[in-house]
Amino acid sequence: MTQSREIRLKSRPVGLPAPEHFEMATTTLPEPGQGEVLVRNLFMSVDPYMRGRMYDRPSYVPPFAVGAPLEGGAIGEVVQSGDPSLKPGDHVMSMMGWREAFVAPANTLEKLPQMAGVPTQAWLGVIGMPGLTAYAGLLAIGEPKPGETVFVSGAAGAVGSIVAQIAKIKGCTVVASAGTDAKCEWLKSLGIDHVINYRSCGNLLEAVHKAAPKGIDVYFDNVGGEHLEVAIELARPFARLVECGMISGYNATEAEPGPKNIIMIVGKSIRMQGFIVTNYAHMRPQFIADMSGWIAEGRIKWEETIVDGLEKAPEAFIGLFSGSNMGKMLVRV
Ligand code: NAP
Repeated sequence: MTQSREIRLKSRPVGLPAPEHFEMATTTLPEPGQGEVLVRNLFMSVDPYMRGRMYDRPSYVPPFAVGAPLEGGAIGEVVQSGDPSLKPGDHVMSMMGWREAFVAPANTLEKLPQMAGVPTQAWLGVIGMPGLTAYAGLLAIGEPKPGETVFVSGAAGAVGSIVAQIAKIKGCTVVASAGTDAKCEWLKSLGIDHVINYRSCGNLLEAVHKAAPKGIDVYFDNVGGEHLEVAIELARPFARLVECGMISGYNATEAEPGPKNIIMIVGKSIRMQGFIVTNYAHMRPQFIADMSGWIAEGRIKWEETIVDGLEKAPEAFIGLFSGSNMGKMLVRV
């Protein structure tokens, strides 16, 4: 019998989550039966959307239950198999993060291929859910055309850094914002045209206007709040606002007022559309083909911030809200 440590939601946070909202427990796993496998996790993902699942309210995914282990994307190695489709040593992707090990039906897991130059944990980042979010949101909703100007917030994060680079590949001028000088330097090293540290720039509207004096055609929104207002203000006629996320409001204890200049979307014929990546699964085969090609050609680069130890997962998750990650935030289990 295998013992596994897991992290449970101890109570629902109000405002910014803190370590006391999580608890570590140890559970005993059964032997894998026929059609099942025992998997030991190698990496797990922490993602901003998990904050939404900590509220007890209806949403596109059900809330986490208090007292139950948290869930999320993870990559693990098969240790014991009761199914011919998986053998010990295979790497699999699951939604069974926040725990050291688990037993699950083999047909609920995705066996990961070996890809040259792509480490296994990249399936949680650049070539995984965040990568597809960037690809589908920018291309299917943003519809960028060569020569257009794309503004992306949260640009040094898992999604934003890929959006910025795909927009360059598509021949756009890219204005990117991020919260530290080190993140801005990394974005510049990727060839991003204009990079703004939104924390130190003084006036965000002026800074973006200076970078994009003729305005912006596509805004890829990861943060909401002031960034969204600036994007509406500087949007050109027929601009597309891709509403991917609004992390600046995820810990708000009261509903935040909407952008005060929202009326401009009428006169400028702006299209503003939200999306959830799971509704774009049909784009995944093309995404994987394009992304693996861009990686092989050196046209897409990525960063990871790896926190070691399952017990540090709450800290890693909370760190998303203060920007402690550059690129994809991961926990090595
Ligand atoms: P991430 O960008 O890697 O990490 C979060 C980053 O947000 C932090 O590093 C921080 O960077 C920034 N941030 C935190 N608080 C902020 C604030 N108050 N104002 C401005 N920036 C703030 O996370 P990710 O996984 O790539 O997700 C990015 C966004 O996409 C999130 O809004 C997430 O919910 C959304 N998302 C949506 C979908 C979908 O299907 N729609 C799928 C995946 C992700 P700085 O240091 O730059 O502030």
